[in-house]
Amino acid sequence: MQEQPPFIRASIRNKIMVAFILVITVWGILNATLLEHALYPILSHQGVPTESIELIARHFTTISTGLTIIGILVFHLIALFFARAIAKPLRKLSDGVLRIDRGELNVRIDVTSRDELGQLADSINKMVAALQKSTQELAKANGELKEEVAERQRAEEELRKAKEAAEFASSAKGEFLANMSHEIRTPLNAIIGLADLLSETRLSAEQEEYVQMYQRSGENLLTLLNDILDLSKIEAGRLELESITFDLLDLVDKTIEFQAVRAQAKGLGLNRRLAPEVPRLLLGDANRLQQILANLLGNAIKFSENGAVFLEVAVTEQHSDSCLLSFAVRDTGIGIPEDKLLCIFDSFTQADPSTTRKYGGTGLGLAISKRLVEAMGGQIHVESKVGSGSTFYFSVRFTCLELPTGHAGRVPNEAELLPPRAVEFRLLAERPLRILLAEDSEDNALLIKSYLKHTPHTMELAENGLQALSKYIGGGFDLVLMDMQMPEMDGYTATSRIRAWEAETGTPPAPIVALTAYARQEDVAKSLAAGCTVHITKPLKKGVLLKAINNFAGGIA
Ligand code: ADP
Repeated sequence: MQEQPPFIRASIRNKIMVAFILVITVWGILNATLLEHALYPILSHQGVPTESIELIARHFTTISTGLTIIGILVFHLIALFFARAIAKPLRKLSDGVLRIDRGELNVRIDVTSRDELGQLADSINKMVAALQKSTQELAKANGELKEEVAERQRAEEELRKAKEAAEFASSAKGEFLANMSHEIRTPLNAIIGLADLLSETRLSAEQEEYVQMYQRSGENLLTLLNDILDLSKIEAGRLELESITFDLLDLVDKTIEFQAVRAQAKGLGLNRRLAPEVPRLLLGDANRLQQILANLLGNAIKFSENGAVFLEVAVTEQHSDSCLLSFAVRDTGIGIPEDKLLCIFDSFTQADPSTTRKYGGTGLGLAISKRLVEAMGGQIHVESKVGSGSTFYFSVRFTCLELPTGHAGRVPNEAELLPPRAVEFRLLAERPLRILLAEDSEDNALLIKSYLKHTPHTMELAENGLQALSKYIGGGFDLVLMDMQMPEMDGYTATSRIRAWEAETGTPPAPIVALTAYARQEDVAKSLAAGCTVHITKPLKKGVLLKAINNFAGGIA
């Protein structure tokens, strides 16, 4: 049902009625006035008899009544005409506007007159046509947008699934590498340790050579194991940088000292120079810096037959609390062909296929160094000339705790200055120690027993965590060497049960040295959290173990 626009009809009718009443009123007044004021006096003055005047008046009234009726008819016709000429198009306009308002954009107002109403209808039609066109375009765009959003949602969903699958694969890879590293480290522990022990016995020259080969192969395997573990951790985005306070000069000298034996054996010079403005006390990952330096210096020595290797440290950027240090490792070695300068930073890539045969190595060191440098806010590159030598440049950002004169460095907080330690242990007197070894592997137990052979300390064995706990509670042990992976009860549980018993009985805590084949940072944190005093990673070196025991025994290992 079409809604009528009553306001238009009412308004026209009202206007016509008002006009009609006005005309009738004016006509009556005119009649009365004419009769009273004009005709009577004029005609009586002219001597027209009263009967004639009354006759004239009657005719006049009849004529005027007739004229009035004609006037009414004329007005009625005029009103009808105007109602048709104005109201009809107005109604069409109003109907059209109401339908447009209801959203019927295909409606066109059918007013074709050339007057203002016709123009208005035309403008409204044009406006509605434009509106309809843009609404259609909008609907089309909306549809496309919806499709695009749906497509994007589908892509996001696929991406999320792929990410989850990649994360799962990466975590499975990480887990696999950690387990593999553990499984390989355990027998490697025995191989390297026994080779060390064997080298301390009387050997013929030939036997000594074989033992050295054992040792070298063991060390290489260990390096490879660590590199693979490092790379997988970096690639899985699980590399966590430490922030510890360290003395740069000390670190550089220790790294050089460590490499000096190999340089001397080849007759190479090995020197370093730190620019005077280089700050000494820094906050950052000292171990990773040492790893990068050891790799670059190791390569420089490995690939040089004569001449010297030189390490230079300078400051590139100096801010109030941070600095960008630049390191350069120069050698006079074989050099690297120009087309290999970039690719040697890729994993498992060497400049020459004969490198492994001639010099050993796996092509992982530079790939790891590059990623470590980048993680530490720096960059690495190499300049080299075949036959003349190479220079590896890298930069690393550190927090400066002590700056050269004129600069105020940041004061380290207490936590940064103290090395982390989980449990305070009792200081042991300078006397032989009773050591409890918790170890399920017979070979490793035998190895540790052999390590302690020429020391004043005594050792008792527990084959699992449960035995270790009851033996420790039995009393009399100064120190515990705790393997963390054992049957029945693992080292973590045994350690926390020992710590709980100590707390309950008021027994001063004994140092517990965690011995584990797991080398990851989270593994160290896990054993410290269980209550261990220090964490030593297998393969266990005699020197490292004796040094750790020596620390607790007051220097009589
Ligand atoms: P690796 O030394 O175990 O092979 P790296 O990743 O440390 O692995 O080095 C990759 C390769 O880059 C080396 O095999 C060698 O070809 C080249 N290289 C690295 N350092 C030097 C250097 N100082 N002089 C010549 N070649 C080098």
